[in-house]
Amino acid sequence: LFIDTLLGPDAAPVINGSSAHYLLGVMRLKAGDPVLLFDNRSGEWLATVADAGKRSLTVRIERQTRPLERVPDLWLCFAPVKKARLDWIIEKATELGVARLQPVITERTIVERVKAERIAAQIIEACEQCGRTALPALADPVKLPQLLKDWPAERALLFADEAGGAAFNSVDAPAPAAILTGPEGGFTARERDLLLDCSAVRRVALGPRILRAETAAIAATGLWMARHGD
Ligand code: SAM
Repeated sequence: LFIDTLLGPDAAPVINGSSAHYLLGVMRLKAGDPVLLFDNRSGEWLATVADAGKRSLTVRIERQTRPLERVPDLWLCFAPVKKARLDWIIEKATELGVARLQPVITERTIVERVKAERIAAQIIEACEQCGRTALPALADPVKLPQLLKDWPAERALLFADEAGGAAFNSVDAPAPAAILTGPEGGFTARERDLLLDCSAVRRVALGPRILRAETAAIAATGLWMARHGD
């Protein structure tokens, strides 16, 4: 379970809010029960419930079970898509181990507002589910031209293009790297030109079919991780 408090041998954190609701109401934890906690800073710790109230619990830290995880330095830059599909991108990219999630606003992006709080909650849930002890960073949304203007030259940007490109598996782009996928309507011709002008960009194809935006994001992430993410 994620807890936003620095954990350590001497910590006696109090858990409240939705986490307490989950532990008390769903898991039915009582005093003396064990619980695994992580804080995104110091790794994972085994704790014991010291006191279970109605809406909060106090836990006692027993020992560290895992250090803070180091994930491969892969960013997923994605045009936000609608609700359930965006949820899917966030959940699966977190499970697959991306280091950073970067929403990119493109000319054909139809989502009006990126709900950072909702995404942050999904990131935490996905980390809890898959046992990841370091949350991926969630960057503020940025427009595509700005993203490219500030792009760090040493980081290859694998631009997934349904119009063609080198087969994804043939491109050797170890960390630090990033993947870029477009919105429901794809990238415009002007954006393609802008992308191909950027020296860090490598245009990649994910097969002959036009994939849903979320399929492309996750397929590319999975392919990269299979090769470079140990
Ligand atoms: N209309 C569908 C939707 O609503 O999801 C398809 C959208 S597709 C145009 C969205 C993005 O997925 C593209 O901009 C591209 O980044 C990526 N993509 C889809 N198929 C691809 C392929 N075969 N190769 C590379 N990238 C692909």
